Amino acid sequence: MKIIMLGAPGAGKGTQAKMIAEKYMIPHISTGDIFRANIKEGTELGKQAKEYMDKGQLVPDSLTVNLLLDRVAKDDCKNGYVLDGFPRTIPQAEVLDEALSKLGENIDYAIDVDVPDENIINRMSGRRACVTCGATYHLKHIPPKKEGICDKCGSELILRDDDKPETVKKRLDVYHEQTQPLIDYYTNKGILKTVDGTKDMLEVFGDIVSILGN
Ligand code: ADP
Ligand code: ADP
Ligand code: ZN
Repeated sequence: MKIIMLGAPGAGKGTQAKMIAEKYMIPHISTGDIFRANIKEGTELGKQAKEYMDKGQLVPDSLTVNLLLDRVAKDDCKNGYVLDGFPRTIPQAEVLDEALSKLGENIDYAIDVDVPDENIINRMSGRRACVTCGATYHLKHIPPKKEGICDKCGSELILRDDDKPETVKKRLDVYHEQTQPLIDYYTNKGILKTVDGTKDMLEVFGDIVSILGN
């Protein structure tokens, strides 16, 4: 099963993608996580990506597309995957479709986690991310058991550099301009499914499971 998560920054794509990956035993592939891992390791890719990410802009396709295509060509992707944060533009979606169609494959579902802009700023200011394993929490809605510490691995939780309100506003603009057109793109392909992302985390997941099947 090949799944794409769509939605504004902070809509809950990552939160849901992690649960999908666990239930359906497929890898969760987040381009944002891959960039952040590279930034942490101080790689050349990380240095280049950071310049764009800190400004709330998209990382150019030249740094993004091949990275993703290489990742989905790995062995663990044979039975499918859930993509979180890719594609973010129509050209990215087209490149992915072309690469898949060469293999006689296709995306099965594009799930739009729908959350209005008004809710996003609040979601982002409360988001805390694990510096080691990438797990995400929310100070109010999904708090860790121990303040500032990851439940899963015990590392420190941080506020992402790009989750500051000024940068979030910019990212929302970029989302509406460049990413939202993907909703029509996948509607036209007949694979778009929309879930109400303002519901509680587990309710949203229940809605997704009723789409994907048990
Ligand atoms: P969020 O979870 O808030 O939607 P991500 O972790 O997916 O954010 O992405 C963080 C940043 O990484 C984006 O703002 C963008 O700069 C960069 N990025 C991630 N995926 C892509 C992509 N497919 N194309 C271009 N830039 C990307
Ligand atoms: P995205 O990957 O779309 O940027 P995340 O999954 O990182 O979004 O979620 C953004 C923030 O909102 C995180 O702090 C997360 O814990 C929180 N969150 C996720 N889903 C919900 C939900 N259904 N209700 C309230 N908060 C949520
Ligand atoms: Zn952790």
